[in-house]
Amino acid sequence: MAVREIVRQGDSALQGNVDKIDKIDDEVLELIDDLIDTMRESETPGVGLAAPQIGVPRAVIVAEPPPDHEGTEAIYRGAVALVNPEVVVASGAPVVIEEGCLSCPGVTAEIERPGNVIVKGLDREGNAVKLEVFGALARIFQHEIDHLNGRFFFDHLNPFRRQLVKARIRRT
Ligand SMILES: [Zn+2]
Repeated sequence: MAVREIVRQGDSALQGNVDKIDKIDDEVLELIDDLIDTMRESETPGVGLAAPQIGVPRAVIVAEPPPDHEGTEAIYRGAVALVNPEVVVASGAPVVIEEGCLSCPGVTAEIERPGNVIVKGLDREGNAVKLEVFGALARIFQHEIDHLNGRFFFDHLNPFRRQLVKARIRRT
């Protein structure tokens, strides 16, 4: 287990094109543990991290919502890892939540996204899972899955606000 360096927005690792995982081997388990360690030890409190953010172009994300946060049932206490995650259904009224990103430290923006999602993928034991989530976990999953596709939270803003946020990121 190790804390790895988080790459910043603009790094080529964050442009998408990740490889799906064929088999959960020791390397993938180590990647999951490193993602969790790196998320927890980051300077600003991290609630999620995607493998490209530590420079690894593979389809793995981790999430750790604050305890007792809306949508975070006891089952999700602690960190949850998803391999090859995909949003299969997004529904519910759109919700606006302030988002930040460990790859753009210090910059946040109010982002609107669907409130409920069904996400499928593999858990760390290699079991196929389908998770129906809302609240904090739904938000984190959508943000982290975006990273696997080269998208950032500010890509959900209108062009004017997106430019403002990107200018703030360039200044940090
Ligand atoms: Zn992020």
